[in-house]
Amino acid sequence: MKKQTLLVALALTLALALGVTGCGGSKSGEKKADSAQTSRLDEVKKRGVLVAGVKDATPPFGFVDDNKQLVGFEIDLLKYIADKMGVKLELKPVTSSTRIPMLTQGSVDIVAATMTHKQERESQIDFTITHFMDGQSLLVKKGSSIKSVKDLSGKKVGTAKGSTSEKNVMKANPQAQVLSFEDYPPAFLALKQGKVEAVTTDSSILVGLKNKDENPDAWEIVGGTFTEEPYGMGVPQNDSKFRNFVNNTLIEMWRSGEYAKLYEKWMGPNTKYHIPLTWKMELWP
Ligand code: GLU
Repeated sequence: MKKQTLLVALALTLALALGVTGCGGSKSGEKKADSAQTSRLDEVKKRGVLVAGVKDATPPFGFVDDNKQLVGFEIDLLKYIADKMGVKLELKPVTSSTRIPMLTQGSVDIVAATMTHKQERESQIDFTITHFMDGQSLLVKKGSSIKSVKDLSGKKVGTAKGSTSEKNVMKANPQAQVLSFEDYPPAFLALKQGKVEAVTTDSSILVGLKNKDENPDAWEIVGGTFTEEPYGMGVPQNDSKFRNFVNNTLIEMWRSGEYAKLYEKWMGPNTKYHIPLTWKMELWP
């Protein structure tokens, strides 16, 4: 024991002497200090490409269109950000459960994937300011006896793995039988096949599932919203140069009307996915 303690003390003294402790001594892919280290922003500019994790089956945020192109509201926001950085945009599909690991492992620089800024997720990644505001709701077959989250007691409800929706519904109604799928379309398929009686996630995602369906009128979104889901973009931890760049770009988009223009394009009254804009971005003077 004594020998071990001595060895640890020696190692610590040596480490201090060499200056290898503290936040500057992290391994690649882990936290980096704000000032002393290179920012991801510099890396992206040098590389000439911003690699972004996006959803590919979640209209209107990120989905494959009729021309087999990956498009959507969050993808357009990212295009503007990449343009502002003066780089190209490369998209990588992510799911609710892969998006955080892909960011922490460095396979993407940023994630814009219907992701709620949860305090518990801050232990792994950082978030930008809110770029979209939503709340969780329920999608059911029209005429269903399920009218709110309370009615899910003893019923099967589908959602996606790694989502806040999964945890929120278990908390809101511990009697509900929650079935977690890889993504929301398989959960919706289960609803169509009668394997679950409801699908639960953010209301705008439910609007996307319902209105993309060949028979949208067969489905109904019920129960209002029972949570708050402020979407932020996921960014590498402790890199304020990168994070501020994205935040300032989002603010610029809001102030210039570019945000409203893109919102109108994807969720305006003349679109398939009409979702009224009812919140305001945090604007720094
Ligand atoms: N916004 C929620 C979340 O971040 C649900 C949607 C999703 O799974 O992407 O988990």
